[in-house]
Amino acid sequence: MKIVIASGNKDKIAEIKSIFKESDFTFLTLDDFSDCPEVIEDGNNLFENALKKAKEISEFTGLPAISDDTGLEVDALDGRPGVYSARYAGENATYSDNVDKLLSEMNGIPAQQRTARFRTVCVFFNGENIVHAEGKVEGQIITERRGDKGFGYDPVFYIEEQDKTFAELDKDEKNEISHRGKALKNLHELLKNKYLKNIEDNLT
Ligand code: IMP
Repeated sequence: MKIVIASGNKDKIAEIKSIFKESDFTFLTLDDFSDCPEVIEDGNNLFENALKKAKEISEFTGLPAISDDTGLEVDALDGRPGVYSARYAGENATYSDNVDKLLSEMNGIPAQQRTARFRTVCVFFNGENIVHAEGKVEGQIITERRGDKGFGYDPVFYIEEQDKTFAELDKDEKNEISHRGKALKNLHELLKNKYLKNIEDNLT
């Protein structure tokens, strides 16, 4: 099955392709289509944004699409930046601007109160069916960047069990435990069950 990844984020696309590397799916990206519409992420939550992305891109391309929407929820900031993680430091904020803003807002907060989680909602839409799945990972926001892999908030997101930040993990190590890895694995299971069942139903 051909699926379009409804994201222009190269870092996410690389992770999604890597997570699905042993699947039967063939992935296309927005670069395979000219004049793809820009999807405005104005939903109130991760699911609404992910659904909007998958629907608009599937409708435009005529192919099934998958999307992901991710938020970083920091307990000491009452769950912020959450659904606003991409533009935390402003509309055109870079990854680095967002990390700087996070570190400055959390200045002085003691280690035991720096708990946070990444949450991802993934949606598959094929013009008819919506399948969605979620994944999350718990960690802590440390006070200084560590590591140079990954992207976004990875350099300050520390996982106690690994004694490393996401930016200190290799791609496969991150995908094994990450919010996106878990959400996509859950989605993959749902899709396998759904489409295998359809094939079996057609055979009987
Ligand atoms: P989006 O709205 O799902 O594209 O993601 C929101 C923002 O969250 C991105 O711009 C990144 O800054 C951040 N983000 C998403 N996924 C990750 C991740 O796996 N690690 C670190 N930051 C991430």
